[in-house]
Amino acid sequence: MELLELIETLNSAHGPSGDEGSVRAVIEKLAAPYADEVSIDTLGNLIVRKKGSGPKVLFAAHMDSIGFIVTHIEEKGFLRVGRLGGISPKEAVYTPVRFKNGVRGLLVPEEKADFGKLKLDECFLDIGARSEEEAKQLVRVGDTAVYDTAVFANEGSGQVFSPYLDNRISCAVLLSALERLPRDCPNDLYFAFTVQEEVGLRGARTAAFGVDPDYGIAVDVTDVDDTPGSEKSGTTQLGKGAAVKVMDSSVICYPAVVAKLEDLAQKHNIPVQRDILRGGGTDAGAIHTTRMGVRTGGISVPCRYIHTPNEASDLADARACADLVLAFAQAEL
Ligand SMILES: [Zn+2]
Repeated sequence: MELLELIETLNSAHGPSGDEGSVRAVIEKLAAPYADEVSIDTLGNLIVRKKGSGPKVLFAAHMDSIGFIVTHIEEKGFLRVGRLGGISPKEAVYTPVRFKNGVRGLLVPEEKADFGKLKLDECFLDIGARSEEEAKQLVRVGDTAVYDTAVFANEGSGQVFSPYLDNRISCAVLLSALERLPRDCPNDLYFAFTVQEEVGLRGARTAAFGVDPDYGIAVDVTDVDDTPGSEKSGTTQLGKGAAVKVMDSSVICYPAVVAKLEDLAQKHNIPVQRDILRGGGTDAGAIHTTRMGVRTGGISVPCRYIHTPNEASDLADARACADLVLAFAQAEL
């Protein structure tokens, strides 16, 4: 399947942190034809194995997204919500959201709220219910919601705008690499689609413990330094290739893995750039400290406007990431 089509397919599935069942089912169906083994661990990570006799390599992309969880249903039918992961209320208001059961709504700030310092407590979710009873017919406390915004790309441009490129674009990268792997691979490959990354890299921790890999590669989006007024929290640029992670606030990558990824990129003519993220982490943070330690690196898709209702990436960068995953998967390690 083409990357854009994959992103659209994955985005139409529900999957905020802790409630990844729907997106996992979609990924499982897409991955199964190419897998030797598929398993789901207790936390809900989907682990797709392609058997080999060489070292164990774990590729991890989190499939959860940030989102909202209903905490209160008020008398007039409005909802109050908590956050799942790094939601900024200022960025989220006036954005349509949808629940797993298809109910839709709009997050709105209270009129008296100071927009500059907007807190989630000062926002409510309007689902069009006229009373508490009516609202309770539609949702329950504990139900989760995600952004319901469109995926689009302008003709002639490789740049895609979409909610949840973090991290559905990396799930698409892993799926497209898996599709293209030859029948027999030297390394013992595990593709983990992890849960609960956005609330603290929780799924990757149990996935890595269970797989006990020799090498770990987290595939995730990374921040850019290429928009007007950039705060330079990232080092990458859209359209300049796959980003090889050197460091973020959760990990300092294993130097030999960084070097291997850069060597492979050169050998296979894959455009790459270096990724240092000043804030934020990835599954690599949980993987590298597993058991006695795992040689860990990261392959990142440069992404603008991360954690807003519409993020932006270049599909050519995602293709380069898939090529690099494919190269590392088959490399002599
Ligand atoms: Zn992410």
